Amino acid sequence: RYVVGIDLGGTKIAAALFDSQGNIRNRERMETANAKTAEEVVQRLVDMTRSVAGGLPLSGVGLASPGAVNSKDGIVLHGTNLPEWTNVPLKRWMGDALDVEVQVVNDANAAAWGEYVRGAGKGAETMVYVTFSTGIGAGIVLDGKLLLGATSFAGELGHTIVEPGGPACSCGNNGCWEMFASGTAIRDSAAELMRSRSSAIADLAAAQGEAMSAKHVFEAYRQGDGVAVQVVDRAVSYMALGLANAVHTFNPDRIVIGGGVSKAGDQLFPALRDRTEQMVMKPYRGTYELVAAGLQDDVGLIGAAALFHAS
Ligand code: ADP
Ligand code: ZN
Repeated sequence: RYVVGIDLGGTKIAAALFDSQGNIRNRERMETANAKTAEEVVQRLVDMTRSVAGGLPLSGVGLASPGAVNSKDGIVLHGTNLPEWTNVPLKRWMGDALDVEVQVVNDANAAAWGEYVRGAGKGAETMVYVTFSTGIGAGIVLDGKLLLGATSFAGELGHTIVEPGGPACSCGNNGCWEMFASGTAIRDSAAELMRSRSSAIADLAAAQGEAMSAKHVFEAYRQGDGVAVQVVDRAVSYMALGLANAVHTFNPDRIVIGGGVSKAGDQLFPALRDRTEQMVMKPYRGTYELVAAGLQDDVGLIGAAALFHAS
């Protein structure tokens, strides 16, 4: 039997058909832009599932959705990228239409599960997954089980507060971790310093015809640019601070780092490992590996489909 995994993004929906070995057998993508109501989007999801399955028997459909999700009842409470989505009963609507079991999970939690089952988390017992992207997403696998929590909101490490009264976050609070350690934060703190100091960061971005972002900060860092060195140092400290807190909380044997910022590779990982080790208490030192994510863009739909695999 087969499973369909769906990644419900704000601008695109990606779906794939998985065989029982977890191999992708077929895939489809579609834009969400001109779909208006939740009913319309769900109808598209149903059509897409049928089309990608091509008549093969399904044992489940797993959906990764951004925003707050009630995984127990399969309801998307608020779609962050789909503003009109409030209390959409995805599991019931899709389950009824397709006569198949449907599971809905937050996208960061789906990605964590994907890495655990098929990526860089394979073989771990307790895994902390963090994606440093535009914001910070996270998911926890505890003793081989995806941690959902009482209302399935577990793993929002990006919104743990690291500085009371700090910069305002989109969540309504101040001083969240993602205000200090996300790609956006890295870009913003570089821009701030560049108001009073010259730096190669803007030129590097311009030369590539791109808007300045964390990527260019890391490129300038490689060249020893003073502003970039200061910004990356500070960002790595904040990244490590959050990871150390997660180590103290969950005692993972593996930490998996994904997201665009993780593409900085050797510019990031050795320093991040060192700094995290310095910040964890002695008994935790050497108890975990800190590694780069193994799956790329498909991580969400892989994780959503893998909800149907016994771990
Ligand atoms: P999204 O948040 O849309 O999922 P990504 O996971 O790609 O997007 O994260 C985007 C962030 O990753 C941006 O801040 C971007 O500057 C940063 N980024 C992309 N490539 C690199 C790189 N090679 N090194 C460091 N940061 C990068
Ligand atoms: Zn926040």
